[in-house]
Amino acid sequence: MSLRDLHIDGSWALFLDRDGVINRRLPGDYVKTPNELDLLPGVAHAISKLGSIFGKIIVVSNQQGIGKSLMTDADLALVHKKMLHEITLAGGRIDAIFYSPHLENQGHIMRKPNVGMGLAARKKFPGIRFKQSIMVGDSQGDMLFGKRLGMKTVLVGENPVIARHLADMVDFYFTDLAAFADEIRAFV
Ligand SMILES: [Mg+2]
Repeated sequence: MSLRDLHIDGSWALFLDRDGVINRRLPGDYVKTPNELDLLPGVAHAISKLGSIFGKIIVVSNQQGIGKSLMTDADLALVHKKMLHEITLAGGRIDAIFYSPHLENQGHIMRKPNVGMGLAARKKFPGIRFKQSIMVGDSQGDMLFGKRLGMKTVLVGENPVIARHLADMVDFYFTDLAAFADEIRAFV
């Protein structure tokens, strides 16, 4: 299967993980303030391009730094305000952001790889069809989230070895979101 064979158009939704896809991950830490938010190269422009293709662009992000009381919902709101500002400046849009403040060991339905944030997105936008959705993430949890909902999955990241390791749940691999956007733009 190739991306081209999916016939992606405005009826499709794009789900994006945040840390490691939109902004630089802080290993062992959380993006707690706007100053710590560092968009990855080309991401704002890529989201702008993807926005002209996909009907909806949804961010789904695990943020257990809140559950650990290292940050608050209000802190996260400021981080997202900056993120949206930078994306908007590049002509892009994000239709909704869902996040899970729950701790990993809680096994909460809202925390990826569980499907709660996907269901919440479809409740907000009833036109979403998971079979016409793509999940882009940099972790196994993201891929599992997408597969559990019947989405196509795209793994991004510097290390293609991970893509081979997760081969049964990864439909496509790209080094980053910009490369994914370029590939789609080449034929849509
Ligand atoms: Mg991530």
